[in-house]
Amino acid sequence: MSRFWSPVVQGLTPYVPGEQPKLQNLVKLNTNENPYGPSPAVLAAVHEAVGDSLRLYPDPNADVLKDALAAYHGVARNEIFVGNGSDEVLAFVFQALLQHEAPLLFADITYSFYPVYCGLYGIDFVKVPLTAAMEIRPEDYRQPCGGIIFPNPNAPTGIGMPAAVVEQFLVEHPDAVVVVDEAYIDFGGESVIPLVKRHPNLLVVQTLSKSRSLAGLRVGFAVGHPDLIEALDRVKNSFNSYPLDRLALAGAVAAYQDEEYFQQTRGAIIASRETLVAQLRDLGFEVLPSQANFVFVRHVREDALQLAQSLRERSVIVRHFKQPRIDQYLRITVGTEAECAALVAALREIL
Ligand code: PMP
Repeated sequence: MSRFWSPVVQGLTPYVPGEQPKLQNLVKLNTNENPYGPSPAVLAAVHEAVGDSLRLYPDPNADVLKDALAAYHGVARNEIFVGNGSDEVLAFVFQALLQHEAPLLFADITYSFYPVYCGLYGIDFVKVPLTAAMEIRPEDYRQPCGGIIFPNPNAPTGIGMPAAVVEQFLVEHPDAVVVVDEAYIDFGGESVIPLVKRHPNLLVVQTLSKSRSLAGLRVGFAVGHPDLIEALDRVKNSFNSYPLDRLALAGAVAAYQDEEYFQQTRGAIIASRETLVAQLRDLGFEVLPSQANFVFVRHVREDALQLAQSLRERSVIVRHFKQPRIDQYLRITVGTEAECAALVAALREIL
C-alpha cells in the first residue's frame, strides 16, 4: 500500500469476493442470486436500449425509474433515491452519517458491509448482540445513537421482523435515522415503505438484485422523507451526478412492468425454500426460520466448514462464515427445484 494515501485507506481490509465459478456443472448457492433469469420484458428493454442511444449521457435524475418506483410503491418521486445497487445507495447513506456525534448501531451478526463502510468513512459504531434466538430486538437498542441500520429480513440469518416491530425502532428513536435494508423483503417479509409517510426518520433501502433477478445490472433505491432523500442527492451529486446508466434504467423500469413474472418467480422460490427446509431438517440440520431466498442452517453433528468443503467436492457451493458464533452455520441460497435436489442428493451422500 502506498504511503501517499490516508491512514484510513492504508488500514482498509479490501473486500475479497467469493468464488466466481464457471457456472457449467456447478450448483452455485453461495451469493443469494435469483436462480431464474430476469423477466423477458427486461431483456427486451435492455436490448432495445443497446441499439438506441448509448452515445448520449443517461438522465441524471433517473426520472423514468423514479416514476416507475413511485407508482409501484405508492410514494412520490421526491421520496426516492436510486443508485448502482443497494451497496452504492448504502455507501451514500453512510457518507451522510459522517462525523455524526453519536455512534451508529447495528447487530453483531448482520450484513458484513456495514462495518466496512464505517471503517472507510470513519463512522463510530456499536455492535448490538442478537438474542439467543438470533433475533434483532428493539429493546436492545435503547441507547444514545446517531442512527440504526438493520436488514429486514436480517442477513445471514434470514429472520424477519413484522412491520409493527420495525415501527417500535422508529417511535423509540425519533431523533435518529433508522435505515431498513430490505434486500430480501419480497421473499415473505413485510415492507415498511408504507410507514415512510408517518416517520420522517425512516429510510427503506431495496435492491433489484434479488427478487427481480438483476444482480448484474446494479440497481438499488431508497425510499424516505423528501428531506432525507434530498441530503442523499447532495452527497451523490458531489460525487457522480449520473446515478444509473441507460441499460440499467431501461431494464429496471421494465422489471416493474412485469408483475406476473415477479409473482411467479418469487412464489417458486418461496415454495422451494419450504420444501428445502423440510428436507434439511430430515437430514439433521437445525434451520432458522427464513423469510429470505436463503436458509441459515447448522448440522447437529457435522462441522460446517468440513460440510462446505465436501459439498464443494461435489460441485455444490454454499457459504460458510468464519465469524465466531456463526462458524458452525452454512448459508444456502434457495435455487431452482433441480438445484435444491442436487444439494440434497450431495448431502445424502456426505451424511
Ligand atoms: N444488503 C444486504 C443485506 C445484502 O445481502 C446485499 C447483497 N449481498 C446488499 C444489501 C447489496 O445488494 P446489491 O448491491 O446487489 O443491491
